[in-house]
Amino acid sequence: MSQPRDYRLVDGTVIDHLPVGTAARALELLGLPREGPITVGINVPSPSHGRKDIVRVEGLFLGKRELDRLALLGPNITVSIVREGAIGEKTVLSVPTRLVAILDCRNPTCITGSEAVDSVFVRMGEFPYSYKCTYCQRVTRDDER
Ligand SMILES: [Zn+2]
Repeated sequence: MSQPRDYRLVDGTVIDHLPVGTAARALELLGLPREGPITVGINVPSPSHGRKDIVRVEGLFLGKRELDRLALLGPNITVSIVREGAIGEKTVLSVPTRLVAILDCRNPTCITGSEAVDSVFVRMGEFPYSYKCTYCQRVTRDDER
């Protein structure tokens, strides 16, 4: 019996249109690999976005916080749910204007570093985003994360 050339998801998630070079960060951010097959495409030609990374994960369904974190990686990332081999709804991720307990403040004297409070950042402008800590007002640029 020959091996299939590419693993096809049965029930899982396709994370598509990741900017080139962010697939590894996406895996790390989602705590992958866990169980189940994962296929990763890096620098894959994309009809609409030049080149992209793509990650397919069997048995993975993402919660809102995970989607919000993924959205930070790029402006056009899409997430599709696969059920019983059929690709279902596709969602274009967008970064919320308020990020609660998603980023850590880089300011060493910020209260979020010493007190048990959730970090709260406000998104500034368009991609690549900067984020302002609502406690100390320090701005974190995307490339600092
Ligand atoms: Zn802060």
